[in-house]
Amino acid sequence: PQIPQGILSTLRSLYSINDINSTDNSNAKIRSHLSLVIIGHVDAGKSTLTGRLLLSLNHVSQRQYQKHIKSSTDIGKSSFALAWFTDEDEDERQRGVTIDVATKYISTKKYDFTILDAPGHRDFVPNMISGAASADCGLLVVAATTGEFEAGFAKGGTGGGDEDVGTCCGQTREHVLLSRGLGVTQFVVAVNKLDAADPAWSERRFEEIKSSMTSFLKEVGYREKNITVVPVSGLTGVNIHRKEGKMSEDESEGWLALQKWYKGPTLVEAMDNFNPAKREFEKSLRVIVTDVSSEGKNVNIRGRVARGFVRMGEDVVVLPVGDEANIVRVERGTAAREGVSPYSFGNTSAPASVSTSSPLPEKGMADIPELQNCALAGDIVEITLSGIDPARLSPGCVICHPHPSLRPKVKRKVEARVLVMDRLSVPIIRGSQVLLHMHSIDVPAVLTKLLSSQRRGDATPRQNPRVITGGVTATVEITLSEKTVLEESNECKSLGRFVLRRGGDTIAVGLIDKVLD
Ligand code: GDP
Repeated sequence: PQIPQGILSTLRSLYSINDINSTDNSNAKIRSHLSLVIIGHVDAGKSTLTGRLLLSLNHVSQRQYQKHIKSSTDIGKSSFALAWFTDEDEDERQRGVTIDVATKYISTKKYDFTILDAPGHRDFVPNMISGAASADCGLLVVAATTGEFEAGFAKGGTGGGDEDVGTCCGQTREHVLLSRGLGVTQFVVAVNKLDAADPAWSERRFEEIKSSMTSFLKEVGYREKNITVVPVSGLTGVNIHRKEGKMSEDESEGWLALQKWYKGPTLVEAMDNFNPAKREFEKSLRVIVTDVSSEGKNVNIRGRVARGFVRMGEDVVVLPVGDEANIVRVERGTAAREGVSPYSFGNTSAPASVSTSSPLPEKGMADIPELQNCALAGDIVEITLSGIDPARLSPGCVICHPHPSLRPKVKRKVEARVLVMDRLSVPIIRGSQVLLHMHSIDVPAVLTKLLSSQRRGDATPRQNPRVITGGVTATVEITLSEKTVLEESNECKSLGRFVLRRGGDTIAVGLIDKVLD
């Protein structure tokens, strides 16, 4: 089940490149796809900013916005009108699927983005993990208001000061560390709520936050060229997207104040400057299931193609259970799925309501006829399967092609490299019990061997350490409580990267080096 030659050559000609795995799409004739996870401390303004992006890029209508303003004002929550766009919609409620991470689609000039709006509250870190595990890039939102940035960025706890990372402290650091561990390689940092900073649109406040965020991101391992920091106000719509047309008073005041000292990109321009993601179209298929629902005799799943290529009519196998099924429908998530989107299959002309300055298509992947009923690495998909019992499927299952040589391993034991969080209240020892989180699953596990550990600056690693303390890199053997679909991280990022948590705190991020028998 290789990617058919016809489709391959279509992709190559559209991308103007010979190697479709190349990350250089500077000559591409179509928008390529990126998954973007939105992270940040609770109340930093993530949902509001997502709503603003949807509105500014015409994915929701002014009329809908006015409706939200009215109904949110009626219940005394007018400041949440934009955030309501990321609330689960009627359709999702009716289908009864659990969407932990709100998924939205937006299109800019260069990209079709799938936006994963991860919950900021620390109780929802597992959902944040599943968002970051499927993201290529991140939008980190920090609030510039007095005290709010500091609270979100605080290292330790508010009281004792001895808690693990994650205990009563700001979520900004933990989210960044998790994203880094799960393979998110580039970030735009939105310094938000500058309209409410003291004084409003303060250059000094922006620079202060920019410099702490940049040094933190570098410390964690990001390269400066992969970080862009932009000043914005999601609520008033300043520096989100340049467009023609009338502005509100708040909006034009904000733009004027900002233009006095800021010459950099808008948020949308910064997002367009992301590097394209490397897609492993030609490797064997892996679809990671995130939602399951049954429909008559068939089963609908929603998931992400982590690798490879899939199309209607193919036979597949679902792991870890090993049951076979046939694919009767494949639908890729794109901007076209949102009702008011200007983009739809086979129709690339802009509707009248879209202003001329909006970033209008060229073409997206969804517009290529050959790609109907197919999905490729990186896509969010809905797949209908026949011939399988829905009870045998659950979030976290992996769909692949049935030939034994094309399947990932289903095992219980791995050798992995882990980066341990700086602040650990209880050190890790042999036999420590943890919860191993990957994509959308968590499995109880035990650290069965501590093979080596190395502190930053140490010349050589220590062999067989008795304990592992905060801030070290270690090689360990982990035994899971049940057979799980596992893969070496260089084979498949999504199935080879994980997070270890204990008592509700993140203690390490890791990479699988070997899947053991
Ligand atoms: P989330 O928890 O990060 O998703 O934050 P929300 O989007 O729900 O916003 C939290 C609160 O901050 C709401 O009351 C918003 O109206 C407010 N807020 C969000 N963005 C801005 C902004 O740019 N300026 C101001 N002044 N308030 C904002």
